[in-house]
Amino acid sequence: MNLVRLLPVGKVEPALLQELCAEIPRRFRVRCEIFPAEVDPLHAYHAERQQYHSSEIIERMQTLVRPQDWRLLGVTGADLYIPILKYVFGEAQMGGRCALVSFYRLRQEFYGLDPDDALLGQRLLKESIHELGHTLDLQHCQDYRCAMASAHAVEWIDLRETTLCDSCRSQVESKMSMAGKQY
Ligand SMILES: [Zn+2]
Ligand SMILES: [Zn+2]
Repeated sequence: MNLVRLLPVGKVEPALLQELCAEIPRRFRVRCEIFPAEVDPLHAYHAERQQYHSSEIIERMQTLVRPQDWRLLGVTGADLYIPILKYVFGEAQMGGRCALVSFYRLRQEFYGLDPDDALLGQRLLKESIHELGHTLDLQHCQDYRCAMASAHAVEWIDLRETTLCDSCRSQVESKMSMAGKQY
C-alpha cells in the first residue's frame, strides 16, 4: 500500500505526529509512518521577514524522498511564507511527492486564546489532507466544507470538514487507482 512518510521539520510534539499518522490512512488509501529524525529548517529562514520560505524547505525535502515513499509530508512549527503572500499554512508540489504543513498559525495561542489541543489536531489534519490533495493535482474546491476549499485565514480552515467532498473524493480515488505507482 502507498506509504505517506511524516517528516518533522524542526521540533514537533510526538502526539501531533501520532494523531496525523492514525488519521491520514482513514482519508486516503495509504499507510503512514513517522520519520524517526527531524530536519532543520534553518536554511530556509529569512531574517528580513523572520519567517521560513516554504518552497526552500520543500526543495530540501525532495532530496529525502525514498523510492518507497508515495508522499513525504513535512510537519513544522515554523512560520512559513512564499514571497507573494504574508504567510502560508502549507505548500505542496502539484502532482509531486512532497508537501509541507505548518501549525504555527493553527494554534489558538497565536491568536491570544487558550490552547486547544483537539482543535489544533483537527486543523492540522485538514491542512494535511488539503496539501496531499494538491500533490494529486486537485485544485481548490468551491465547497467551503471540503478539505480542498481554499483558506486564507484559520476561520476558513475551521469551516472545512476533515474529509473531501464527493467530487474531490472521486478524483482522488480515480487518480490513485488509475495511475498506480505513478501517483
Ligand atoms: Zn490549497
Ligand atoms: Zn471538494
